[in-house]
Amino acid sequence: MRWLYKMHENADVIVLGGGIVGVCVAVHLQMRGKQVVLADRRAPGEETSFGNAGLIQREAVFPHHFPRGLADLFRYAKNKSTDAAYHPAFLPRLISPLLRYWYHSEPGRYRAMTRRYAPLILASLDDHIDLATRAGAMHLLRPGGWTQAHEAQRTLNAALEEAEIMRREFGIEHVPMDAGQLAAHEPHLRTGLAGGVHWPKPLAVIDPHALTLAYAAHFETLGGRIRVANAKDLRREGAAWRLNGLTAPEIVVAMGAWSPEVTTMLGYNPPLFVKRGYHAHFAPDGNAGLNNAVLDVANGYMLAPMRRGIRLTTGAEFAHRDSPPTPVQLARAEPAARRLLPSLGKRLDPEPWMGARPCTPDMMPIIGPAPGQPGAWYAFGHAHHGLTLGPTTGRLLAEMMTSDTPFTDPRPYRPERF
Ligand SMILES: Cc1cc2nc3c(=O)[nH]c(=O)nc-3n(C[C@H](O)[C@H](O)[C@H](O)COP(=O)(O)OP(=O)(O)OC[C@H]3O[C@@H](n4cnc5c(N)ncnc54)[C@H](O)[C@@H]3O)c2cc1C
Repeated sequence: MRWLYKMHENADVIVLGGGIVGVCVAVHLQMRGKQVVLADRRAPGEETSFGNAGLIQREAVFPHHFPRGLADLFRYAKNKSTDAAYHPAFLPRLISPLLRYWYHSEPGRYRAMTRRYAPLILASLDDHIDLATRAGAMHLLRPGGWTQAHEAQRTLNAALEEAEIMRREFGIEHVPMDAGQLAAHEPHLRTGLAGGVHWPKPLAVIDPHALTLAYAAHFETLGGRIRVANAKDLRREGAAWRLNGLTAPEIVVAMGAWSPEVTTMLGYNPPLFVKRGYHAHFAPDGNAGLNNAVLDVANGYMLAPMRRGIRLTTGAEFAHRDSPPTPVQLARAEPAARRLLPSLGKRLDPEPWMGARPCTPDMMPIIGPAPGQPGAWYAFGHAHHGLTLGPTTGRLLAEMMTSDTPFTDPRPYRPERF
């Protein structure tokens, strides 16, 4: 990887942003014969793609919607819950995107949206397996799925009902578990839980950063180039895009939560907002860990066994992307996690990691040609599912950019919808 200073280089496409989405776009374009430069202000995979929960969520056809029930809204308004928190001073700037998020979460609109979103999710597992096989990275993907653990019979029943709809409408498999079956599946969880819903198909990445780096290394073996550059230096000169010494007729903006820094220069101001999230790792006591990732539904955090230990990841924090970390949800989740998994041992990271999920009000990513900017393309806004959808987004956008037949109708994800 080199800094772009006074070099003069040509490429067919410059991909801006080296998170999982940008890397996957770059590799798919390079696989289709384009000469691609991947440009990031730092090394690939060091922002949000570094620290997620590692799930390739082949089951996630129902993305996280805005709560509509009054009881939930009151609970969140108190700002004391583990699964969601907010910075009160930032709320005025969130009103517009959150109102739109609420609007799109209305049950009728939401269900219609899931049908438009599902083709991406349903392709995600096969697209990862294809890319991981090419990249020699299958050892980073662990089979076995993941499990929701429920304290209350009421939430378990509701989750089972939803799982049944997902099975009927989208063919997604789940395994209902009563208390005994959950205990047999994850023997180190505390007793007294109501049961669980197990999703057997998703794969779990044991080191999401390593996976992004493996895909980036594969991109380089295909002839792709990785350069360090600040995307804010992008300029248009006639039909060409210039980034310091680099020239290309096409660009892709894939900078996750930072994408508006470039798209607004190009006249496109998406209603993107971030849900920040945190993680910390813990050592299991002896071998008393987890077989697969577990979501504590009552408290809204995930425990995912990874290379570096058991990774506790938190839910959504509504705050300015760049304001200093306030890991209160991690502080609330840790005691709950110790109750759920009494063998959770020493905390391994002195400081929590923080990432920023790039979210859109209609819960779908923005993928397609930039309005009014020939030669510019967008791929961002993957919210809770960027790891899951990286290779699928990369494939879809590369198909569009090389005039190949897209594997699914890309219109639901087009930037103009905002
Ligand atoms: C706690 C947590 C748990 C999660 N768990 C999961 C999960 O289990 N499964 C799942 O599918 N998703 C999960 N996600 C979501 C997922 O991590 C994100 O959707 C995904 O990482 C977004 O990838 P990205 O490539 O769009 O953005 P990023 O990974 O954030 O990459 C953006 C890139 O743009 C670069 N950039 C920014 N500004 C500039 C600039 N000026 N010039 C050049 N480059 C720039 C950055 O350096 C960075 O490399 C989770 C997220 C969090 C926070």
